[in-house]
Amino acid sequence: VNVMMELETIAAISTPMGEGGIAIVRVSGPHAIEAVDRIYKGKHSLSTVDSHTIQYGHLLDGEAGEKIEEVMVTVLRAPKTYTREDIVEINCHGGLVSVRRVLNVVLNEGVRLAEPGEFTKRAFLHGRIDLSQAEAVIDLIRAKTDRAMNVALQQVEGRLSKLIQRLRQELLETLAHIEVTIDYPEHDVEAVTQQLLLDKAQYVQSKIEDILRTAEQGKILREGLSTVIVGRPNVGKSSLMNALVHENRAIVTDIPGTTRDVLEEYVNVRGVPLKLVDTAGIRETEDLVEKIGVERSRSELKKADLILLVFNYTERLNEEDRRLIELVRDLKSILIVNKMDLAGELDVKELQKLAGERRVMTTSLLEEQGIDELEQAIAELYFTGDVEAGDMTYVSNARHIALLNQAKKSISDAIEGVKLGVPVDIVQIDLQKTWELLGEILGDAVSESLIDQLFSQFCLGK
Ligand code: GDP
Ligand code: ZN
Repeated sequence: VNVMMELETIAAISTPMGEGGIAIVRVSGPHAIEAVDRIYKGKHSLSTVDSHTIQYGHLLDGEAGEKIEEVMVTVLRAPKTYTREDIVEINCHGGLVSVRRVLNVVLNEGVRLAEPGEFTKRAFLHGRIDLSQAEAVIDLIRAKTDRAMNVALQQVEGRLSKLIQRLRQELLETLAHIEVTIDYPEHDVEAVTQQLLLDKAQYVQSKIEDILRTAEQGKILREGLSTVIVGRPNVGKSSLMNALVHENRAIVTDIPGTTRDVLEEYVNVRGVPLKLVDTAGIRETEDLVEKIGVERSRSELKKADLILLVFNYTERLNEEDRRLIELVRDLKSILIVNKMDLAGELDVKELQKLAGERRVMTTSLLEEQGIDELEQAIAELYFTGDVEAGDMTYVSNARHIALLNQAKKSISDAIEGVKLGVPVDIVQIDLQKTWELLGEILGDAVSESLIDQLFSQFCLGK
């Protein structure tokens, strides 16, 4: 896309606004460097420093000329930047107040506040990324774990784009072949064309199906597997939750407007994103079954992707334990015998028998024993087979999924047509439609309003 008019210089806070840490105000556009330079005091003027270098200095209040903030400033000159424009990134000590102050002085220099997703929109407008890559950035922003992040990154790197481009190329060649047949009917290659058409169309169809099959996985990964910790009172449920949260980086969401639900913790366990759900009524209820009844507790538990069922090694299995085991019978679960540091009463062999196929792990959360093994077991549950291969393009974007489904429909129509002996110039219409639908994923032929709508989904500062 060629942008003729000069774009305004824009700025936004581009890091999560949390407590402490470093926050970044990102400025992008033709006047980014000179605008920040006017309010920056350091060893060198920003207009003279090398690109991609970091400067230490202070920001000044434009009018009073007083130092207001200690900053590290990164100057990134076009075109080797995210937006392909000049970018200045101002790193300051976090905290809402100081980062807002920095943003304010920048905005006083004729810089406009960026709309949500506007940086990425610029990257798109300057041809740095295509639409599916831009959309992957939305997922990236929302990605709560490394693995989800990788999925998004792969898209950013254009995996999906490449795959779709290849399919479109196949379709294009097939369409070209049909043109020849139609233009020179005397060649009588109709029969050959039919077979070729069928082969190509079925190939494209199976590829689209492959991509769609990953859609569900992509979704799970982005959201995190909802994990519920269950067990009788005092067995160590809270301790387990704490251990998982502390051992693993707790994942902080940076989506504005989502107040963090204190009842949920996102953790990354060996690449498996878990959403540990502290559902009141499940994790902490004294006697779950007694309190809310078998049916209700079962339907609550069914909502979970994974159940961690905890037992106390110092006590024999009782009725409540057995009921819980029964309750999670065909749900994905791991049984954990905790407090292994103490004298045992629980018969682990008996528990393993009751558990059937499910893993029984032993831990001492107090002495931090068995947690690694438990994490490994959790990871193994989810990353066996093709999910682990990590070589697949995940689709996790609702618009892509919808378009792929439409494309699948129209390619199936084409196949059906060929099989029924419909004239090729009719089949051609379905192929063309498939080609166009796949093109929409790449951002070809999308209307301006669609682009605007997409970019407005971004959070501020990306
Ligand atoms: P919850 O009621 O199931 O959430 O259990 P808590 O996590 O609150 O733990 C109950 C008590 O058991 C606390 O005093 C913990 O410190 C203790 N506890 C937890 N895990 C262990 C363990 O592995 N060994 C020992 N000795 N005590 C533990
Ligand atoms: Zn507890």
